Amino acid sequence: MRDQRDDVVVDVAIVGGGPAGLALARALALQGVEPVVVAASTEWHATYGVWRDDVADCDLGSELDALVRGAWPTVRVVGQRQHLLQRPYVVFDNARLRDSLLAGLQVQRDTAVQAEHTTDTTSLRLHSGATITARLVIDATGSGDLLARRNPSGGAQTAYGLLLGATSEIGSANVVRSSGVESGVFTLMDWSTPPTFFYGAQFHDGRTLVEETSLYANPPRALDDLRARLAARLGVDATERADSVERVHIAMGGSMPARTTRVVGFGAAAGFVHPVTGYSVAASLRAATRVANEIAQQLSRGTTGADLSSAVWGAVWPKHLVRARGWHDMGLAVLGSLHPRLIGGFFDAFFELPQAQWSAYLRIDSEPAEVRAAMLGVFRRVDWVTRLALVAQPAALMRALGAR
Ligand SMILES: Cc1cc2nc3c(=O)[nH]c(=O)nc-3n(C[C@H](O)[C@H](O)[C@H](O)COP(=O)(O)OP(=O)(O)OC[C@H]3O[C@@H](n4cnc5c(N)ncnc54)[C@H](O)[C@@H]3O)c2cc1C
Repeated sequence: MRDQRDDVVVDVAIVGGGPAGLALARALALQGVEPVVVAASTEWHATYGVWRDDVADCDLGSELDALVRGAWPTVRVVGQRQHLLQRPYVVFDNARLRDSLLAGLQVQRDTAVQAEHTTDTTSLRLHSGATITARLVIDATGSGDLLARRNPSGGAQTAYGLLLGATSEIGSANVVRSSGVESGVFTLMDWSTPPTFFYGAQFHDGRTLVEETSLYANPPRALDDLRARLAARLGVDATERADSVERVHIAMGGSMPARTTRVVGFGAAAGFVHPVTGYSVAASLRAATRVANEIAQQLSRGTTGADLSSAVWGAVWPKHLVRARGWHDMGLAVLGSLHPRLIGGFFDAFFELPQAQWSAYLRIDSEPAEVRAAMLGVFRRVDWVTRLALVAQPAALMRALGAR
């Protein structure tokens, strides 16, 4: 805890102590700009999985391998066929990643309730009654509702997961039989029983994560339904005997942030959630240095107020990435229009693309041409029924072409 004197103006205040807020805080500190971090909590309860190569070059404060609690050399995807992808996948050890990003930084445990602007500064009013005045305020609150308002769609990806102990009676052996989990392989998606898919893997300590997931749906698929579908898959509802239960709700499908607000968004708050996968952790870790560099440069030039915010928004969402987002959004629209029995074939086509192509599609910071190329590649590979469903999306195509 630190006390913030009301009359002091700090360079940067970051609201939110999730992966995005802390990644940006660390990147700023490396640039010599020590931010004030205001966080209601720094406890992370979700299972954060990323493709290893997406974050291998990020400065996380420690070696990547020291920050994970699981690593798998092979990823399994089942559409109508099985694909064994030789692209390593890791799940973070949340406490270790958080501590590594936080090293040397201090967090003010509080909740920001309001932001007020003068020409050159923004004052954050905190729940405790304290005020922080900063040249730049970053909203890394996940939702973004509070500061850099966005229009939620009401839709979400939802999932219901169980972490099963190695020695539990329904433990790994049974799970392996009923869900296809095997050691050394991470099942990213198994579409054998659409409209939901299975996600899961065995950790090195013998524990097994099993999760039933619904891709984006509006309204979101109910967790009770996902729980029932997982129980049907496993042959038992193991909720009462699980080490922990993971209830996933990732708001998706909302509009891009306006990018004109004085408070600047970052992470999920800024729309970093991938429109198709719901992932955002790797995106935030990858963007932290880019955004921190811009902030440090602008501060050193003496830029203030709306000019500073505008320049930083330009680094959060450079124009070419806004165009790429247009194509990602189109991907979501076409996927949402497919009959559930076509989804498996769609993902077969997707993961049969060259690995560099499908990997680029799964990143939000790929060039628009790379994202478009992956979509065209899928279009060429899918059957005629799926193609017809895809071309019946002219509105989504127009939006993609018009994204600015
Ligand atoms: C269960 C679950 C599993 C997920 N799994 C993955 C995954 O495997 N891979 C992946 O890439 N993504 C995953 N996601 C999606 C996404 O990456 C996460 O939502 C991620 O946590 C977003 O990070 P963030 O830092 O932007 O926001 P958050 O993690 O939501 O962090 C925001 C923080 O800000 C704090 N806060 C909010 N408002 C205020 C305020 N006014 N004042 C102070 N503090 C405030 C919150 O308490 C919170 O700690 C998952 C999401 C969920 C829910």
